[in-house]
Amino acid sequence: MSKHADNSNGRPRGMDTRLAQGLSDPLDRHGFIHPPVYRGSTVLFPDVAAMRSRKQEYTYGTITPTTNELCNELNDLEGAAHTVLTPNGLSAITVPMLSCLSAGDHALVIDSCYAPTRRFCETILKRMGVEVDYYPPAIGGDITGWMKPNTKVVFAEAPSSNCFQMMDVPAVASAAHVANTDVVVMMDNTYATPLYFKPLDHGCDISIHALTKYPSGHSDLLLGACSMNARTAERVAETNNALGLCVGADEIQLVMRGLKTMGLRLRHQEASANHLANWLDGLNEVIRVMHPALPSDPGHEIWKRDFGGSCGLFSFVLNTEDPQKAAAFVDALQLFGLGYSWAGHESLVVLPDFSDRTCSAPTDGGTVVRLQIGLENVEDLQADIEQALSAAGLS
Ligand SMILES: *Cc1c(COP(=O)(O)O)cnc(C)c1O
Repeated sequence: MSKHADNSNGRPRGMDTRLAQGLSDPLDRHGFIHPPVYRGSTVLFPDVAAMRSRKQEYTYGTITPTTNELCNELNDLEGAAHTVLTPNGLSAITVPMLSCLSAGDHALVIDSCYAPTRRFCETILKRMGVEVDYYPPAIGGDITGWMKPNTKVVFAEAPSSNCFQMMDVPAVASAAHVANTDVVVMMDNTYATPLYFKPLDHGCDISIHALTKYPSGHSDLLLGACSMNARTAERVAETNNALGLCVGADEIQLVMRGLKTMGLRLRHQEASANHLANWLDGLNEVIRVMHPALPSDPGHEIWKRDFGGSCGLFSFVLNTEDPQKAAAFVDALQLFGLGYSWAGHESLVVLPDFSDRTCSAPTDGGTVVRLQIGLENVEDLQADIEQALSAAGLS
């Protein structure tokens, strides 16, 4: 049991305490708060017998003590048996899929997934001879009707990318496992971070993160992680290793540092996003806000049941179908940078594309605008959106 399990009176310690203090003990490293950064390719063995025994903990630079520091943190946060780090969030999706799918297999993927997940399915998986169907986010236990005898993977994401539709993760995971005992249920958990949702506690086998997002939090790196139960750990680790993927120690160190402040950043960005989402919901220029934390959102009840919170990312439907007016609004924003990714300290905006979706594209009319709310003062962000609406001739 870790030193953070309980206070002396038996009360469980809070998550911020856990994140601020970390798992490993500074007194094991001469009192330095942060673990050292091990960079390397070659790892030496004391003699031939040690090299032949294959028992030495570290044998090559692909996995270092720095790798294991972060993997231990993530195992603890996700309740996982094992974590594999990958070069970015997308490879944390493709590696477990490759580890579980072969020619002739079938995969079920949520229709509203992160777009590059679908691109991987439509290119590499198709070429491998894997059949993929895309299920609607509201499927719940009806996933059973979509399962085939050769279904090996059910891929979940909630709230989903860009429209933030909720799915009933425990219902899907349990129905999938009942229908086919060797299916692997994997979930892209990037939105919630392990602070607000733990997929393995809700029936999933693998929890996937773009550590690029909140865990790093400063828009300065790409890194990914798969945190897995014992049943799936070995094949994912083996696939990652066989593909030759590994990650740099400096990225890991920056994520370790980011984790110390993740709770604080997440809650601040969440509060600002909730404020802006509520405000936008009341504007005539806005058809609808897509954010499960709003009581009016169709996914609100499931979100409230399963998730500990929301994050600083949401979308709204601007009341114009004129692409030039939508572009004028985005271009008039001064504090929202126009760029991909999210969860950094600075606010961002994109106009997402839904043309690849088969059953979950929004049908509200208007134009969907996705906002990533950063750490700026929320009243400045609100004033910026207000002036951009008027500059674009929308208000
Ligand atoms: C950003 C993102 C990813 C991919 O992360 P990268 O590190 O940019 O490859 C995966 N899933 C979701 C939901 C994301 O938002």
